[in-house]
Amino acid sequence: QEDVFKKIVSHCKEYGFVFPSSDIYDGLGAVYDYGQNGVELKNNIKQYWWQSMVLLHENIVGIDAAIFMHPTTWKASGHVDAFNDPLIDNRDSKKRYRADVLIEDQIAKYEEKINKEIAKAAKKFGDSFDEQKFRETNPRVLEHQQKRDALHQRYSDAMNAGDLNELKQIILDEGIVCPISGTHNWTDVRQFNLMFKTEVGSTAEGSSTIYLRPETAQGIFVNYLNVQKTGRMKLPFGIAQIGKAFRNEIVARQFIFRMREFEQMEMQYFVKPGTELQWFETWKKTRMAWHQALGFGAENYRFHDHEKLAHYANAASDIEFHMPFGFKEVEGIHSRTNFDLSQHAKYSGKKIEYFDPETNESYTPYVIETSIGVDRMFLSIMCHSYEEEKLENGETRVVLKLPEALAPVKLAVMPLVKKDGLPEKAHEIISNLRFHFNCKYDEKDSIGKRYRRQDAIGTPYCVTVDYDTLKDNTVTLRHRDTMEQKRVNIADLQGIIEDRVSI
Ligand code: ATP
Repeated sequence: QEDVFKKIVSHCKEYGFVFPSSDIYDGLGAVYDYGQNGVELKNNIKQYWWQSMVLLHENIVGIDAAIFMHPTTWKASGHVDAFNDPLIDNRDSKKRYRADVLIEDQIAKYEEKINKEIAKAAKKFGDSFDEQKFRETNPRVLEHQQKRDALHQRYSDAMNAGDLNELKQIILDEGIVCPISGTHNWTDVRQFNLMFKTEVGSTAEGSSTIYLRPETAQGIFVNYLNVQKTGRMKLPFGIAQIGKAFRNEIVARQFIFRMREFEQMEMQYFVKPGTELQWFETWKKTRMAWHQALGFGAENYRFHDHEKLAHYANAASDIEFHMPFGFKEVEGIHSRTNFDLSQHAKYSGKKIEYFDPETNESYTPYVIETSIGVDRMFLSIMCHSYEEEKLENGETRVVLKLPEALAPVKLAVMPLVKKDGLPEKAHEIISNLRFHFNCKYDEKDSIGKRYRRQDAIGTPYCVTVDYDTLKDNTVTLRHRDTMEQKRVNIADLQGIIEDRVSI
């Protein structure tokens, strides 16, 4: 699985999907650039989300707020005081780690040990193996489970209490060693704020510290009144936004899974107090259905309901996707209560309420948030679509089986040879179809190589223009997944392809 993931990362680079940022300077940690194919896929993901959230819901509207916001925003939201990760350094390797991640990895190690015992026994006993019974009776499994549960409890208590000394003590008691140097030489744990700071204004005028937003949500909350009033919105209603967010992540790993500059697609749904948990359940279902509509198989998704809630939430659940490195969060659904709006009312001195014409009362709406990372969605799609397929002739082809609507290029048009008017005919086909979907012209190398190149970037359709085309206006249409080829009229291409590739 790790190997597959490495292959996907290099495939992303080789085929113009994702490059390390500032590549000629050897990259910048946890920052990436999207290439010529990556940007198309990313735009399609955003469009697919925007259409289903904004265009298909009568009571959801979009905004595009600025990345820079008044600094008080982040005081009010709690980010200045509480958007921290617990940091620990190893003195020998001079490497920095998140104390919580080190402990979570340790919990995962107990889990791994349990799974190994189970796999061993399952192999030995075959069909007669009863996993449940084995878990309840095997002394080694019981010991690992007991250690795992005790550690989990101690860790949760320490995190809930914000007890940094206890986090360090857990690391020492568990004998956790530095992954790089293998030593125990740990510093104390301290809090590290994840927001990037910069200055606005020249020194002559006086400058002030502002932050790069760590989430897009606050741009929605500070615009709640503007949108509600100008749009005459009635509860329940939602405001959606797609935009960049920035976090100074300490542990940057797993490619575009955890970046310092990334993109979010968020929707805040404002509801009447008391109805929020019902809406929370509705949005959980709606969002899960959206993911599953891509056709990657329901078994690759799961909910992870949070026991430990952020200070502003009264319910929270993640949608996790089965990545090559395990089930990982792609989207968070949070019931944020009226915390954000109340805090902004308090700090701004403005009345941020909703007048309910049905009950004649004013109140601060409650909020359900759906928050998904574009880049994590991108990664989940790449991971699921990448296939090394054994062909009947013994060759292997690398194919990206992207959902057709998300593919960067929908149709590649290829002249069989670079002469006798075939390139001109191919260009003519493209010039008509390019208004309907993304088409690319390709004339380099043999047809076989060109098909492979399109397979590797996930192009669902290829058309070959040959000498017969000049006579009868037909072309060979090839489908990426089946590799089936059929002869069709040029005039029918739009009809055949458009429906299948439109979002
Ligand atoms: P994690 O626990 O993985 O750090 P989070 O719970 O802090 O994530 P949220 O604050 O709920 O994440 O953000 C909502 C979504 O934004 C996440 O589900 C994820 O898809 C995306 N996201 C958050 N942080 C990053 C990041 N550093 N890089 C890429 N995407 C991110």
